[in-house]
Amino acid sequence: MRGFAARADVEEVERFLAERVRALPPEPVALLACIGRVLAEDVRSAVDVPGFARAAMDGYAVRGADSFGASDYDPLPLRVIGEALPGRPFAGAVGPGEAVRIMTGAPVPEGADAVAPAETCEEQGGRVAVREAVPPLRHVGARGEDVRAGETVLRAGRRLRPQDAGLLASIGVSPVACHRRPRVALVVTGDELLPPGSQPEGACIVDSNSLVLRGLAARDAAEIVGAETLPDRPERIRAALLRDDVDVLLVSGGSSVGQEDHAPRLVAELGTLDFHGVAMRPSSPAGLGRIHGRWIFLLPGNPVSCLCAYEFFAGPTLRALGGLPRVWPHRRVRLPLARKIGSEIGRVDYVRVAIEHGSVVPLSTSGASILSSTVRAAGAVIVPRGLEGVPEGAEVEVLLYDDAPLTEGSP
Ligand code: AMP
Ligand code: MG
Repeated sequence: MRGFAARADVEEVERFLAERVRALPPEPVALLACIGRVLAEDVRSAVDVPGFARAAMDGYAVRGADSFGASDYDPLPLRVIGEALPGRPFAGAVGPGEAVRIMTGAPVPEGADAVAPAETCEEQGGRVAVREAVPPLRHVGARGEDVRAGETVLRAGRRLRPQDAGLLASIGVSPVACHRRPRVALVVTGDELLPPGSQPEGACIVDSNSLVLRGLAARDAAEIVGAETLPDRPERIRAALLRDDVDVLLVSGGSSVGQEDHAPRLVAELGTLDFHGVAMRPSSPAGLGRIHGRWIFLLPGNPVSCLCAYEFFAGPTLRALGGLPRVWPHRRVRLPLARKIGSEIGRVDYVRVAIEHGSVVPLSTSGASILSSTVRAAGAVIVPRGLEGVPEGAEVEVLLYDDAPLTEGSP
């Protein structure tokens, strides 16, 4: 066994990825499956929505100008010549002295330009008395009031929300061009691991990294196409590294330079090991390589290291492949530091922090194996390479772990 000869700077690895990772090509996606997908192109509407002037209330379609002066004392008498319902327009035109009974959402017939609400009208024997003036356009939704033909309604790069899918349906776009989702497989290695759902027993521990990695990859809009838990046997790991139906492999465990750490050597043999060892804490035994154009992230097995290496390198890669911004996907807050953070020049530190009484408290149980620290934490502070630490009272930026409103104290 020997240590790392040299460790790469975090920025160097980030730059390497930023220069090489491009969004995957678009594919047509059915409307029913598009929520959460990332638009690959701007979407322009070819049509007006609604495509006709529509009643905004139940009542009578009238010629607004005719109703001037109508009141309780001087109701305007009109002849009811028909009915307009949503989807069943009135075929004729409304002339002087005429009205059409109309329901909300129905097309306003030709000749009419206003709707007298039902509560201001009284119909009897084919005639209606209108007791309140309705100026032209009153209670009428204009054609194109929602969307105008030619308007850009959604921009490329947008992760589609439910209401976005609804709008796409309303303008008649289907299917919709979205970036292909990056296909990811997990390769979780370690002789000591039991599958999630087991009871920890003896010297064996339950694999937690696959749960964490699955959740993070789903957050980053990736498609998880497989997951294997493997013993530390080189031939098994080699076979898993050759899996060719993925864009990205996330390999957990065995990423360092110990005798059971096979993955780095195998990546170098089967492709290129671009980086091995990064000047950061935790996660310094992280690595990165490529096999036949597939990205291989070597994530240390320690749960916090695994999460940290994912967040620094794999997460931005998956987001960029899927057409999303590379940047941190949750909210950030700036708050003063309650206690100093120690670091070292030349190394990036990833510090889990809680937020208490409006200030940032670094969690003291900071070992890379203490997964519960990430559960207690509201987020993380990153201490850059050039700093020896951050003094108490200094304002720091916290990358929050989610978008829930900030709560004080433990979860
Ligand atoms: P390794 O990176 O394989 O040397 O593992 C470092 C530490 O992380 C060891 O204590 C492992 O037991 C632990 N570990 C490795 N893989 C996992 C996993 N999937 N879930 C939880 N802990 C793990
Ligand atoms: Mg291991």
